[in-house]
Amino acid sequence: MKNLSRRRFIKNVSAATLAAGTVSFPFVNYGRPLSQQGKLGIALVGLGYYSTDLLSPGLQQTEHCYLAGIVTGTPEKEKIWADKFDIPKKNIYNYQNFDTIADNKDIDIIYVVLPNSMHKEYVIRAAKAGKHVICEKPMALNADECRDMIKACKAAGVSLSIGYRLRYEPYTQEIEKFAREETYGKIQVLNIADGFRMNRPTEHWKIKAAYGGGAMMDMGVYALQAARYSTGKEPVSVTAQQFNPDPEQINEVDETTTFQLEFPDRIVANCMTTFSSSVNFLKINAQKGGYGLEPFQGYSGQHGFLPRGEKFDFPEKHQQAVQMDEMCKAIMDGRPSLTPGEEGLRDMVIVDAIKESCKQGGKKIKL
Ligand code: NAD
Repeated sequence: MKNLSRRRFIKNVSAATLAAGTVSFPFVNYGRPLSQQGKLGIALVGLGYYSTDLLSPGLQQTEHCYLAGIVTGTPEKEKIWADKFDIPKKNIYNYQNFDTIADNKDIDIIYVVLPNSMHKEYVIRAAKAGKHVICEKPMALNADECRDMIKACKAAGVSLSIGYRLRYEPYTQEIEKFAREETYGKIQVLNIADGFRMNRPTEHWKIKAAYGGGAMMDMGVYALQAARYSTGKEPVSVTAQQFNPDPEQINEVDETTTFQLEFPDRIVANCMTTFSSSVNFLKINAQKGGYGLEPFQGYSGQHGFLPRGEKFDFPEKHQQAVQMDEMCKAIMDGRPSLTPGEEGLRDMVIVDAIKESCKQGGKKIKL
């Protein structure tokens, strides 16, 4: 079966049928030979910190995918990556010839790991090239961009996943289960914080507005995600406040944002994110006591705590390897992604409201 005919086939199977698991797709190799023992080929776009330190090492441990190609604007990186990961020259692209990746049968998935302001353009170009897409968080600059990205992927019949790695790891899944099963009774309040001390130079894109920088966009989306998956509910309103105590260092974007989410059933989440300090916890109070994770969103070293001082832990696995494997399995099995574009959109609708509340001096914004 050729690429497109398979994709149309996947599109035509109803979401309900897929969710019910009543259809299983035989593994079809999109018209290329099963090189790498049936693994899907991933091309990383943007070879900065996250691709270098986390995704490429993760791709050495994956069972269902491998690092097949790279897209970089820095010619010196081409040889370094080619030598290190045995990437053939024909699978190395720059931002100018990127669109010709459409003809490369080694590449099944394009993983966009660029500054946030570039996500929309590269996700849409990847979809037009007929490739499945993974896009890093935050999905885009705002909800409207997310809608365009979802539309483009739907039109091309390709899958779109957001790199919410925590949704694939067992600590977070345990927290989601506690909410679903009301293990400790009904949830009442949440306190969530995450941040780090930003030591990057003042010209770095993470503190530039045009690139979609700022604490809320960088780390705040984890706190926001945590409030949503820890309750299993969608917030109905938000209030938010922005702080810039050192405008010589950080002035175009927020250094610290605090935001409060009101959920149905009288649940309130009090969230904070910052570039001023290392902080990382998720604390949930329910009828039968408090539980949570600290840290809750590190790449490793998470710990879980339960009421009455009990603790829980899981064996450590490479989070990004687990995430990419599961995303690839979903594509191969014809299942919907656990973290589709729609999930990124939900967050960005709330981020837009958080920014609006800050602009209006902390006014409550209904969602
Ligand atoms: P980074 O600055 O280290 O890397 C960005 C890459 O984009 C660099 O290789 C840079 O050369 C390239 N680039 C191309 N055009 C550029 C331009 N015009 N300006 C600046 N850089 C340009 O950033 P990063 O920390 O790797 O973050 C990349 C993406 O990954 C972001 O969306 C970020 O939010 C996300 N991220 C996710 C996680 C996670 O845990 N899921 C962790 C870190 C970063």
